[in-house]
Amino acid sequence: MIQVYNTMTKRKEIFKPLKKDEISIYCCGITPNKSTHIGNARPFVVWDVIRRYFAKLGYKVRYIQNFTDVDDKIIAAANKENSTWQEVSARNIKIYFQAMDALNVRRADFYPKVSETMTEIISMIETLINKGYAYKLDNGDVYYSVEANKNYGKLSGRKLEEMMAGARIEVDERKRHPMDFALWKSAKEGEPFWESPFGKGRPGWHIECSAMSLKYLGEKFDFHGGGADLIFPHHENEIAQSQCAIGDENSFAQYWLHNGFLTIDNQKMSSSEGNFFTVEDILKKFPGEVVRLFLLQTQYRSPLDFADTLMENTRTAYNRLKTSYDYLNDIAKRIEAGTFVKSKPEKSAMITLSQAGGLVELAERLMSSFEDAMNDDFNTALAISYMFELSRDVNGYYNDYISGKIYPRGTDAFIMLRVREIFMDMASIIGIFENIPEEKAVDDELVNKLMNIIISIRQDARSAKNWAVADKIRDELKTAGIILEDTPQGVNWKNA
Ligand SMILES: [Zn+2]
Repeated sequence: MIQVYNTMTKRKEIFKPLKKDEISIYCCGITPNKSTHIGNARPFVVWDVIRRYFAKLGYKVRYIQNFTDVDDKIIAAANKENSTWQEVSARNIKIYFQAMDALNVRRADFYPKVSETMTEIISMIETLINKGYAYKLDNGDVYYSVEANKNYGKLSGRKLEEMMAGARIEVDERKRHPMDFALWKSAKEGEPFWESPFGKGRPGWHIECSAMSLKYLGEKFDFHGGGADLIFPHHENEIAQSQCAIGDENSFAQYWLHNGFLTIDNQKMSSSEGNFFTVEDILKKFPGEVVRLFLLQTQYRSPLDFADTLMENTRTAYNRLKTSYDYLNDIAKRIEAGTFVKSKPEKSAMITLSQAGGLVELAERLMSSFEDAMNDDFNTALAISYMFELSRDVNGYYNDYISGKIYPRGTDAFIMLRVREIFMDMASIIGIFENIPEEKAVDDELVNKLMNIIISIRQDARSAKNWAVADKIRDELKTAGIILEDTPQGVNWKNA
């Protein structure tokens, strides 16, 4: 049972999917007028985890995210650099995908663009005019009439008077009501335009998401997501347009999930304050998986503060998890090579037997807690804390194993593979350890040959009573984490 906080009802609800085996999601995408900033990246990482989790539960997931590829800001940016809106959009969409790839965000099923959805947008505006929810001005602008829809304001929970008190209203005598918003803007001199029954122009911002979700997900779909800053007016307007055009006040998204704001050093992010952190810039300092883990170590609805010191903490935390990942892979390799189980030395009868039985019980319990956390409004912060708990015990087990404190039995091989599977399941939902640079595998055979050479040089030094060289070899190996043991049968070596 999954519970989600629905902005529409302002409470946590039991999630009931529209279809038995498929989840449909629409998330508002970016306006590619500049490089994506870290605050804008947050919803995409959050939805990526939600998608992964539903997929893990066996659902087919259909995920749509748009690009507002033509708008005032893009046109302004193009004019400034003396290029075209197409060039500005294409360049920033490319940067966006590079950033998302680094953050392990999987691709959406479709990325509709305004410029490619014009037919559907125009058709929806025509429907709204025909049904009396929109009106055309003499200059070709088309406005949505907020007074024509008694439900306007149901998402943000605000009445028209309250909205007007909070908004900066441009007095426009031609509009029927100050809160009416543009569905179509007539073309101004030198601006890109499309032909329509209302004249040459281009769409207002909100209508695209209504037209796109209808095109790709139908009249009803499960989730609509985006940042909390989109609740009003963007999502409010999407609901109004869609439900009036479809003619069903229960149509459109069934659950509205909004992620909290991201601040930089506790200040609300804005380009004017100079704290404009792009994902592109952050990735120069931190690996993508560390950034991803950072964004997910806070539940998506909570505000999140971004600071370099906090990122450094996450880097350390990530490395702890990465150590467990490496250890579990090393164990799996040893199991495959048949070298995991070692015979216990005769003289050390006091050595405890394996702890693997306890470890797998812990892993199963933590996986169940991990799922409970995800089921509770996708609480990745809590889920990740269970992963750390498992990591601590895995690292302890491995260190005891390598130092010879414990000697695994044959059955422990299966148990440790199961522990590894659980750890990897958690990692695959959180979406880490997918983008690790290939490390050169340690060649056990080669290491053995090299160690035999070093040991024989030390033996030669000892025979020649060159204690300085013999001790230097022993001490420096110890610093490197290798212990030499002199036994009657010869010299053995082991990892410290
Ligand atoms: Zn939208």
